[in-house]
Amino acid sequence: MGFSDVFKYAGTRQKTGGLKIRHHKDTANFPTEYLPLPEQVVISMVQHTGAPCVPCVEKGDHVYVGTMVGKAPTAMSMHIFSSVSGTVSGIERIFHKAGMGETIVIVKPDGLQEPDPSIKPPEVHDFTSFVDALSMSGIVGLGGAGFPTDIKVQPKNLPDIDTLLINGAECEPYLTTDNREFLEHPDTILYGIDACLKYLDIPKCLICIEDNKEAAIDLMTKKAASDDRIDVCVLQSRYPQGAQNILIKNATGRIVPRGARHTVVGVIMLNVTTVSSIGKYLQTGMPLVSKRLTVAGDAIENPKNLEVPIGTQIKDVLNYCGLKEDPKKVILGGPMMGVAQFRTDYPIVRQNNGVLAFSEKLAKTPEITPCIHCGRCISACPMGLSPVEIGMAFERYEFDKFEGLNVDICIGCGCCSYVCPAKRPLTEVMTLSKGILKKSGKGGKK
Ligand code: SF4
Ligand code: SF4
Repeated sequence: MGFSDVFKYAGTRQKTGGLKIRHHKDTANFPTEYLPLPEQVVISMVQHTGAPCVPCVEKGDHVYVGTMVGKAPTAMSMHIFSSVSGTVSGIERIFHKAGMGETIVIVKPDGLQEPDPSIKPPEVHDFTSFVDALSMSGIVGLGGAGFPTDIKVQPKNLPDIDTLLINGAECEPYLTTDNREFLEHPDTILYGIDACLKYLDIPKCLICIEDNKEAAIDLMTKKAASDDRIDVCVLQSRYPQGAQNILIKNATGRIVPRGARHTVVGVIMLNVTTVSSIGKYLQTGMPLVSKRLTVAGDAIENPKNLEVPIGTQIKDVLNYCGLKEDPKKVILGGPMMGVAQFRTDYPIVRQNNGVLAFSEKLAKTPEITPCIHCGRCISACPMGLSPVEIGMAFERYEFDKFEGLNVDICIGCGCCSYVCPAKRPLTEVMTLSKGILKKSGKGGKK
């Protein structure tokens, strides 16, 4: 079973897709280090899908580790907690990577790292108390999506869910943080899985890991051997194996219909660090306040897996790991789907999993040349799309063609740009085209 069947729901003509790309996972065996406390943390109120949080502290307030500093205004949001003990030194507005404004709460650490005295493990005994606990945990999709986990575990068709999928594919090059979670916290992963299976009444769980993570596969297979509800599912190492619908197809054989949520095929999928964070929260009551990052790239002197307080500024991460030269490009996330940053005082948010810094040599933007109609972008697309046709429609302002070209199912994986010999900015065009189609109210038809 592979990528060859995934095209079926795209309704287009391709039968293959995805890429074998260099992994660059040189930090896979680097144990997690802890960043010394920075001079300040800059806690963004936008760290999840949904409504931004509203600051619930004021300048001059004392906060502990785990004190709520941002309150979720609606159910589709997630509270935000201080990652340090100290004093709130400011509440300001900044521009983030997408050029939009957002509110930040700045906290100066007192160095004591005292936990909030009110923190204790939540009392969980059934579905309702489990969901209530998650709503206070600060946990969102930590693979990058940032979807509030308390919302994710209560789909309308929960009684039909028969499989919990744990996404440990980590298919993006360079990133090794999920791999470290498997190796360093296998028991909290299993604790979180057990809670999900028990309180959501799901009979089985598949822990999905790409075949390039042999140590993680061996350890989790051994650890889960005594629980017949849990299996380890080894998947081919092929980008973008960790994309939601592709992983579901390859792990279960089920195809998510176009425009539908993945729960319609009877699965709930959680990232491995997300489920491990659930385990930690249930055991301790400490909400999510820190995050492990892979810090790598050819401009980094000492690549690391580094656990940092949420709100640490990118520049503090770079300074700690050291720079061989002034980086030309700094990316939050992996090189395929991450976002290049235009300033390094921007803070780490909870769904970040990597900081990559590249030299001018590697970051140089190649010259764009005319399309040679080689078709490589079509072969590479895991969703069976024709990026070249979408690109042509975009350039000619033929936006009415987008729906028929299925641009709404593009997952932004970057495979088309990666293979294009003419170095055309296909992924960027896909993103813009998808936005235009969405704004028109079309797309997503079943
Ligand atoms: S970015 Fe979109 S169009 Fe390009 S390969 Fe990925 S899914 Fe296909
Ligand atoms: S890979 Fe690039 S050059 Fe080849 S068809 Fe696609 S857009 Fe054109």
